[in-house]
Amino acid sequence: MMSKSSKLKHKKTRKGRKTHEFLFDTIVPSSIVEQAKAFTAPRGRLEMGGLLIGHVDEEGRNVCAIGFFPEQIEATPGYCEFDGKWMAISANAISHANKVGGDDKKIPNLRVIGWIHTHPDIGIFLSGIDVKTFKQNISYTKDGRFVAVVVDPLREENGVFQDPNKPNKFSAATGSLKLPEGLKERYLSFLANMEDVRNKQGKGALPFIIPGDLRSEHTARGFNDDYTETYFLGFHQIKKEFHQFQERISKMAMSNIENNNDIRNVGKQQKNFESSVNDKFQYLNEEVQKITNDISLLYSMVEKLKEENSLALKQHAEATAAAAKAAEAARFKRGQRAQETQQSFIYWGGLNLINQINHLLSQGLVHDAQKVLSSFLFHMPENQRGDKQLGVTE
Ligand SMILES: [Zn+2]
Repeated sequence: MMSKSSKLKHKKTRKGRKTHEFLFDTIVPSSIVEQAKAFTAPRGRLEMGGLLIGHVDEEGRNVCAIGFFPEQIEATPGYCEFDGKWMAISANAISHANKVGGDDKKIPNLRVIGWIHTHPDIGIFLSGIDVKTFKQNISYTKDGRFVAVVVDPLREENGVFQDPNKPNKFSAATGSLKLPEGLKERYLSFLANMEDVRNKQGKGALPFIIPGDLRSEHTARGFNDDYTETYFLGFHQIKKEFHQFQERISKMAMSNIENNNDIRNVGKQQKNFESSVNDKFQYLNEEVQKITNDISLLYSMVEKLKEENSLALKQHAEATAAAAKAAEAARFKRGQRAQETQQSFIYWGGLNLINQINHLLSQGLVHDAQKVLSSFLFHMPENQRGDKQLGVTE
């Protein structure tokens, strides 16, 4: 599958599998991407793919000089495919072209050197499918020389990829080619051959030939200038878009007028709404005023009640204090009287007893005096109970 060319550098991966590093410098003139862009831009978001024809120059670089976009079998945003027969058709045209100039070894042979495809408005990179296609194309070569060119005709970007393992590493097409006469003739021969193919198979089969920097020489030989045609198609496209744009603007203007009417209607509705809101607001205001009055009335009533209550509480407290004072005074008075009564009882009782005993003793009745004293002592509790008869009550 892979080539055995000594120009390929081999390195061992950690898994021990051999991989290749493609270190060939690549030259893609800007005319190729310019022409590809002009042709593919009117197709919008549909991808398109084609082949690039080139040679290896004396410094060992891959040079892409010309190419073509054949009819697409499948074209979607994100995928494109053309028939594999175009490889064979190219190979046939190449073998014819390489006979031009005889077997002059100084003139490099033409070859299919690359693949060009578009990425409309998705930018420049190699997708998973692109990497697979790129690797497959490299595997078809004898020396691993193959280039991938990606063009974004809508963002006006392009990328030249040399290594399928580096899907985000690319350079831009640049400059122009200075081809020696013999080599130029081989390229012009290839282009003429492709014009033949187109004559036989129809413009639909081969819609665009990329003459690159050989455009003027190619058309000078009486061939159709695809680029100019494309350019006019593009111009027509622009005119069409301009008309559509004008229509859009006039539609927008119309819808603006409608909007203005709508705005007026909305204004009326808003005024109605505002006046109804105002009415409701006024009513609410009145209601609120009523409620506020009621509340303040209630407040004043509560205040009055509070005052009355506090007065009542005060009077009650005063009355209670006075009652307590009176009770205290009465208790004190009672206590005092009880004390006085007790004292007078003890005093008078005692005095009476002493007089009685003295009287008995003065008559010599010692025994009686003793009896009175012991009787007194014996009846002590009775005497005390007799307090009640003296009016000492609680
Ligand atoms: Zn792609």
